[in-house]
Amino acid sequence: MEDKRMNRQKAKLTQIEVCNTALSMYHSGLVAGTWGNISGRVDDEYMVITPSGMDYERLAAEDMVIINMHTLAYEGNLKPSVEAVVHASIYLDRPEVNGIMHTHSTYALTVATARKPIPPVCDDQVQILGGEVRLAAYTMPGTKEMAEEVVGALKERAGALIANHGAITVGRTLTEAYVGSQVLEKAAMVYINSQSIGGPVEISQEDIDFFHDFFLNKYGQR
Ligand SMILES: [Zn+2]
Repeated sequence: MEDKRMNRQKAKLTQIEVCNTALSMYHSGLVAGTWGNISGRVDDEYMVITPSGMDYERLAAEDMVIINMHTLAYEGNLKPSVEAVVHASIYLDRPEVNGIMHTHSTYALTVATARKPIPPVCDDQVQILGGEVRLAAYTMPGTKEMAEEVVGALKERAGALIANHGAITVGRTLTEAYVGSQVLEKAAMVYINSQSIGGPVEISQEDIDFFHDFFLNKYGQR
């Protein structure tokens, strides 16, 4: 794959970032075994994604696969994650997204197996993820159908559930997507737990809009 437009330096830095975040994700308990995948955007043409069936104990930055988002052609000997088509479709739909994390975390998967969304119940959930966490319909992993379902469920959100499969989060940075995965997992747990005390009270749309705007535009240091 020869393309003068690819920024080699940026691609290398993205490989390092994806590898480091994959290790953090593994140690956080959000994934088990070789499951889950992470990617980072290089530019409008290329992304870097974790390899298929990766062994988290032996991850090296150079094993993170550089792949063309339009053609899914990739460099090197390692095959990209089978869910690369889902990541590519999200980057093409969302120019502001620079990082994506996909997990099969326990509580998110519990809600996803019930085929329910996570209503807007936690403050940090609505700030970071933008409100209710929608459910993408059940489809075969790594198919165009799954990509379309996930892109639809993510509209104006930074997180979605995938029926009987797991969760996916996006961010302006990969770190933001990682925080989103942790917040989504916690919101799923809180939602389940709250059923035992009469069910949660949802946050109003007005408050959701205020908090999400605050997170996107005013939060943090300048
Ligand atoms: Zn998956």
